[in-house]
Amino acid sequence: MSIVECKDCKYMVSTSAEVCPKCGAKYPASYIPSKIIFHRKSTFWGIAVGTTVTVNGKKVGKLHNNEEVSLELSFGDYEIYGKTNDAFGKISLSVLPARIYNIEIENAGLAIHFNVLVAET
Ligand SMILES: [Zn+2]
Repeated sequence: MSIVECKDCKYMVSTSAEVCPKCGAKYPASYIPSKIIFHRKSTFWGIAVGTTVTVNGKKVGKLHNNEEVSLELSFGDYEIYGKTNDAFGKISLSVLPARIYNIEIENAGLAIHFNVLVAET
């Protein structure tokens, strides 16, 4: 957790605050993006084929075993898809401000699993 200015009144607030204690703005640190790191776990399934990862329909990368790609996302809700040949998986992710999301992608047969670990910056 760190202390930053409220997006509206500049009062110093926690990045995890849901409401500014001074002006009442919701998610006063929502202007600070979060870092999202996708890492594909080493698995037998789809070993020769990349897993295509998309966020809200936009491709962010194609990962083979032990590869990773990262991007920044701002506060909001996202749909994340993974596809490896016929295998498919998806999750909904609500991104809070100023976090690090480590998302591990695991292929298992026709399923793709996402394990999400969130840390504060
Ligand atoms: Zn405020």
